[in-house]
Amino acid sequence: LDDRDGKIWMDGQLVDWRDAKIHVLSHTLHYGCGAFEGVRAYKTAQGTAIFRLREHTERLFNSAKILRMKIPFTLEQVEEAQKAVVRENQLESCYLRPLTWIGSEKLGVSPKGNKIHLMVAAWAWGAYLGEEGMRRGIRVKTSSYTRHHVNITMTQAKAVSNYTNSILANMEATEDGYDEAMLLDASGFVSEGAGENLFVIKNGIVYTPDLSAGALNGITRNTIFHICQDLGLKLVEKRITRDEVYIADEAFFTGTAAEVTPIRELDRVELGRDDYVGSRGPITEKIQSAFFDIVNGRNPKYAHWLSLV
Ligand code: PMP
Repeated sequence: LDDRDGKIWMDGQLVDWRDAKIHVLSHTLHYGCGAFEGVRAYKTAQGTAIFRLREHTERLFNSAKILRMKIPFTLEQVEEAQKAVVRENQLESCYLRPLTWIGSEKLGVSPKGNKIHLMVAAWAWGAYLGEEGMRRGIRVKTSSYTRHHVNITMTQAKAVSNYTNSILANMEATEDGYDEAMLLDASGFVSEGAGENLFVIKNGIVYTPDLSAGALNGITRNTIFHICQDLGLKLVEKRITRDEVYIADEAFFTGTAAEVTPIRELDRVELGRDDYVGSRGPITEKIQSAFFDIVNGRNPKYAHWLSLV
């Protein structure tokens, strides 16, 4: 990923992709305090547009606030930086990665005295869990790793350090032949995927874990809330047990990278009814298709969620 043409926005300037480097003594590299975002831009009839740019940028600032880091740019500057990298790299649709980190002026656990940095990169990235997964659903394993308790590294921050937990869970699941991990919270209730929020559907009602289970307040999760309302589907945020997922009619993951990815199996238990076992369920399909209409600019009700670059 580092050896290619293009531009990366770094601390206020567009620099050559290959030159976007940091020092090995950067504080974040040693102690893991940093925050990032995952954002997508889609090709719409009006042109390339970033989906929910304001919400992603606000979450980045909130993550930094939680981690006591002061981003030395305004929200508007960071929004403009994101548009600039899409334009400069001539991307029609892409994934964007803003990241804020602590500099290399000094080491020691206290970050005081270090500069705060920010970068934004963008590149083409297709379906995170595979095209086939989008159609057929993916196979998921309950992780042996517990999701962060809400009072450890803070679960409403999209903090760099939270992803060690995600990496361990994802590696365990994929090495065991599954596509992704589902993590339980410290009390044993369903929290989320390694990089996705989780939804289940039972008797026509859509359920998702409430945020006290340590799940990230996903922007796609919020988009699904709007879609459910539009489709007349009741949505309930509540504690969910892993066996409620086994007996769900349907389940799916959501995330900026994962978009809406159906789940067809958890721990070798096939989800759903006989008429669609081994595939995505009918309500998931409707939600998925409503999602792609919105992000691709085909639903005028949500035009305000699209920022043309
Ligand atoms: N949970 C985790 C742990 C994630 O990494 C992500 C991806 N950012 C999500 C949930 C989904 O959040 P969003 O829909 O805002 O991308």
